[in-house]
Amino acid sequence: MTNLLPQMPEIWQQTLNWQPTQVQQVQFQRLYELILEGNRLLNLTRITEPQEFWEKHLWDSLRGIALQGKFISSLEPGASVIDIGTGAGFPGIPVAIALPNCTMRLMDATRKKIAFIDQIVTKLALSNSQTLVGRAEEVGQQRPHRQSYDIALIRAVGTASACAEYALPLLKSNGLAIIYRGNWTQEETTTLQSAARQLGGVIESIDEFTTPLSQSIRHCLYLRKVVNTPADFPRAVGVPAHNPL
Ligand code: SAH
Repeated sequence: MTNLLPQMPEIWQQTLNWQPTQVQQVQFQRLYELILEGNRLLNLTRITEPQEFWEKHLWDSLRGIALQGKFISSLEPGASVIDIGTGAGFPGIPVAIALPNCTMRLMDATRKKIAFIDQIVTKLALSNSQTLVGRAEEVGQQRPHRQSYDIALIRAVGTASACAEYALPLLKSNGLAIIYRGNWTQEETTTLQSAARQLGGVIESIDEFTTPLSQSIRHCLYLRKVVNTPADFPRAVGVPAHNPL
């Protein structure tokens, strides 16, 4: 095996006050191998080097669910989480591995990506995870999903306002949307504040941090749902992206 992921126990400990168990470490390694394999057919990710995969996919996914140096408390036990536009499974799969007591819904609009994720879920024996093919604009209006999740994760799916429109309708009241970003500016905060307000949410915090290996700047935006989202949202397919709030 040439593609061996680093383990980085000290960095996990220092940054998240957590370390993977041996079982979780094996699941991370297997996930990495499956994605490298799947990449040949599906073009899932550009990030294939072991260190980079560890940092940009594993560490980054788990950093989003941490505040003040540890996993956010509302995540355990039994919290229901949805990953919107999961793609090759990020951030949802690392979160499902790290927090086996939460339930994870891995959602994407692309059927062939979800078919691949189904195989990963089976091969990693992720009994807390289920998949869903769908567009956030439609799923957010559907009974079993609207207002049903404690946490919504969303990374690299669109502008922050579009992400807010995808995520907030799916949350229970008092639920938390976590939007993963690279760069972030004050002007974007103003736009997002107005979008969040229309959707029944508020910006609870904006966390800026650097990644532990390459020292890249990243942001996570935390939106709290404070009142019900009006029935008009999410708007029809394509509207949140093309005409953002
Ligand atoms: N979250 C992953 C993948 C990002 S690529 C990561 O960070 O690595 C964006 C993914 O979002 C694609 O797989 C695309 O199919 C999906 N997507 C884009 N718009 C969507 C929508 N409106 N509803 C559901 N999935 C969507």
